Amino acid sequence: MYSIGVDIGGTGIKAGIVSENGQIIHRANCKTDIESGFDKIISDINNMVRDLIDYNQINRNEIKSIGFGVPSFINNEGIVTCVNLGWFEVEFVSKLKSTFPEFDIFVENDATVAALAESKFGSMNGKDISVLITLGTGLGGGIIINGKPFTGNHGMASEIGHVVIGENTYNCNCGNNGCFETFCSATALIKHTQEILKEENESIIINMCKGNFNEIDAKMVFDAYRMEDNLAKEVVSRFKHYLSIGIAGIVNTLDPGIISIGGGLSKSSDIILEGLKDMVREHILYKKENFADIEVATLGNDAGIIGSAFLNK
Ligand SMILES: [Zn+2]
Repeated sequence: MYSIGVDIGGTGIKAGIVSENGQIIHRANCKTDIESGFDKIISDINNMVRDLIDYNQINRNEIKSIGFGVPSFINNEGIVTCVNLGWFEVEFVSKLKSTFPEFDIFVENDATVAALAESKFGSMNGKDISVLITLGTGLGGGIIINGKPFTGNHGMASEIGHVVIGENTYNCNCGNNGCFETFCSATALIKHTQEILKEENESIIINMCKGNFNEIDAKMVFDAYRMEDNLAKEVVSRFKHYLSIGIAGIVNTLDPGIISIGGGLSKSSDIILEGLKDMVREHILYKKENFADIEVATLGNDAGIIGSAFLNK
């Protein structure tokens, strides 16, 4: 038996036929046509999934279910609002059920499905309670308890990126000030770098972006850190300070066996993880006790497809 996982992102949609042991045996992808609207995206997914099945000559009866990871909150009625995709209260789940009437359909938040994949086949395997933090443009969170995604009573849980952990110089997209993701994400690194550069003019980053501060990206900051650039050190130090505070909150609340770091910034996990556990220890309540391992996620971009495919299990 197989399951299909579909990972819906802001720029592209990836699908895969996944075996019982978590291997993606066939893949397909298409662009996320945000401008043409919700119905067009669903129609593109329909074509892509049906082509994937037909082209690889998979028998429909061998497919147990189709799971979807979406970069948003799905309420108990299956309604989705996702600003990045231009969706406002779309009836996502019922639309998918009418598009794929012959399959069981499952839908979850994208960080949650990535966490499920890491828990089943990756860095978090073997732990009863595990938490994935995805550090990308924003900060996503997925919580797995005894092999199952934990999404709370109303489906709203695991929005770790919007836990308020301080006071910041800019507001979060959600309207609050001080959200975890405004301190710990690629956006946060870039904004903080740009702010310091308004006052200071000594940094290798100025050469890297050729003087155009709008071109600064997170990789430049980490590259500059490796070159012992003082500005980059200051930015990364603040980033890790708040990351340790945010993680300590997770430890105090859930006491997981492992916290994995995924997302685009995890490419610089050597810098992010160095000394991080000791920093977290300073902020947790029971400082002398053993607490969660903090490691880098291992499935990379495939986690979304694999986790979506395993929503049925
Ligand atoms: Zn927020």
